[in-house]
Amino acid sequence: MREIALFEKELPITPIQELSGAYDSNQYYVKRDDLLPFCFGGNKVRKAYEFYQDIKKQPIDVIMTYGSNSSNHCRIIANMAVAMGIFCHIISPEENRTVLYNTKLVTDFGAEIETCPVERVAETIRRRIEAYEKQGKRVYFIQGGGHGNLGTEGYVKAYREILAQQEHMGIQFDYIFHASGTGATQAGLVCGRLLAEKSNAAKIVGISIARDADRGREVVKQSIQEYLADRYEALYKEDVLVFTEQYRCGGYGKFNQEIEAQICKVMYQEGIPMDTTYVGKAFWGMQEYINTQNIRNKNILFIHTGGTPLYFDRL
Ligand SMILES: *Cc1c(COP(=O)(O)O)cnc(C)c1O
Repeated sequence: MREIALFEKELPITPIQELSGAYDSNQYYVKRDDLLPFCFGGNKVRKAYEFYQDIKKQPIDVIMTYGSNSSNHCRIIANMAVAMGIFCHIISPEENRTVLYNTKLVTDFGAEIETCPVERVAETIRRRIEAYEKQGKRVYFIQGGGHGNLGTEGYVKAYREILAQQEHMGIQFDYIFHASGTGATQAGLVCGRLLAEKSNAAKIVGISIARDADRGREVVKQSIQEYLADRYEALYKEDVLVFTEQYRCGGYGKFNQEIEAQICKVMYQEGIPMDTTYVGKAFWGMQEYINTQNIRNKNILFIHTGGTPLYFDRL
């Protein structure tokens, strides 16, 4: 196994950029996690960093994970695997096989992409792991999106980074908004907040990019419970978990013209690229939420969770 020098140290701190555009009376800042310096960045780098530390502890022959043709997670994991000299096997739903930039990158990294009907994913993963194990190969399985305690850990650390940055900048964020998908990012931020125990902490709002509120919220909550374990009962409060389904535009990957207009505006005024599936959708959702809730004169932090290759899929 080869080491990845970037992952042998702490990840570099990502910039918090003040926005210049006049959006409304609030002051906006963007935490540029899209600039994390590994394979076009994004929140999956923070998660991969934690998986890397875990994989290093054990002898592994195959890294296996799951994701769609547009998956940022699969891109990062395939890059990490090839950098470590470990074979990467990706299970992907056969329903949508358009070759997007992320798909192309995964293939370039030499990962095997195995497709199956979406309802047979769990079974396919189980059978593949068994087959590898029969050959005497040790498989490290990573859940889709990098879900689980290690993924959560990545954003507990990011939350601490934000606390240090706001102290350094001499400001106090009132809100933190971000795109919420499989939920580890939000679980990490919320756990970070609960563990920091600051009474004036920013309100964290997850903008769902796919799941409805019942399921989405439940998954984030489970992740929080899993991560906090025996500290959960004492620390968790329902009102720290805000997950809104209002801005899904009909589901994963769906978007409207307002989202496209918002993406253009932010690119032109700030030079920050955003995609329609995650970040652009969440940024638009944030603005709608702020309008609806009549939020004014606040300091708002938006976490740019990445997806840079998806920006080019639209062109
Ligand atoms: C995966 C992803 C998300 C969602 O993160 P979760 O931890 O799955 O909620 C948001 N934005 C981008 C760009 C992503 O790739």
